[in-house]
Amino acid sequence: MLPPKIKFINVTKSYDSASKSDVILQDLNFEIYAEEFICILGPSGSGKTTILGLVAGFIKPSGGNVLFNSKNITRPDSSRTLVFQDYALFPWLNILDNVAFGLTTKNHKNNHAREKALEYLNMVELSAYKDHSVSQLSGGMKQRVAIARALAVDPEVLLLDEPFGALDLQSRESMQTELIRLMTKAKKTVLFVTHSVDEALKLADRILVIGGKPGKLLCDTTIAVARPRDLNSNQLISIRNKILDKLSQSDLFMGLNI
Ligand code: ADP
Ligand code: MG
Repeated sequence: MLPPKIKFINVTKSYDSASKSDVILQDLNFEIYAEEFICILGPSGSGKTTILGLVAGFIKPSGGNVLFNSKNITRPDSSRTLVFQDYALFPWLNILDNVAFGLTTKNHKNNHAREKALEYLNMVELSAYKDHSVSQLSGGMKQRVAIARALAVDPEVLLLDEPFGALDLQSRESMQTELIRLMTKAKKTVLFVTHSVDEALKLADRILVIGGKPGKLLCDTTIAVARPRDLNSNQLISIRNKILDKLSQSDLFMGLNI
């Protein structure tokens, strides 16, 4: 078996803030393998964004090690790209140039970057909007652009921080379907953060549940069910109950969206 793509070894994180003793994450140990679609599920404030920051290389662990391809992560890198809830597109660039942005900074010649960007805009079915400005697009479309931009640099790991949290229910559901389609094609390792149990049940190959104070890994569940999934099936109901049971034993249960 190949070594894990990402490995957390006894990872602890506390921020250097007023209350120094505030431990956010404690003794996290888990491994993520190539092409797994992982959902990190937990209530707000449980440290999910911190976990993505550690993998992205924006945040350093206070203790332990975060490994990527068996090496310590020391800095952000285009092999691990991050998509935020609020899209983070550049309003002064058109759609195509937004997608080409990471490519032009990767020393591609501009024309080549635009060609490549168009390929990825095609993938998210938005090439017809390449000359539009960001403000002309709906929330769901902006998020597809953000995903195209993150994929265009051909990362090994795609990090998604509650990417559909700002969308209405209908756009959220169509984006979930779209993401599954894209990921099946692109064959990436995905860490998808959510505080919705149902979203995790719909998307994940494996769910890592984070909760408690300090945040710990409460549960690591594999979901071997083909997509699209029926959340009312006995198998998924029993996984949901197991997750809720673990979370109800932690003290941050209230921040969870069921
Ligand atoms: P989540 O994404 O699950 O909501 P976060 O990782 O954003 O959780 O935050 C976990 C905890 O760490 C929260 O209590 C938050 O206030 C704290 N925190 C996050 N970032 C910082 C920071 N830069 N400095 C100090 N505390 C932080
Ligand atoms: Mg967060």
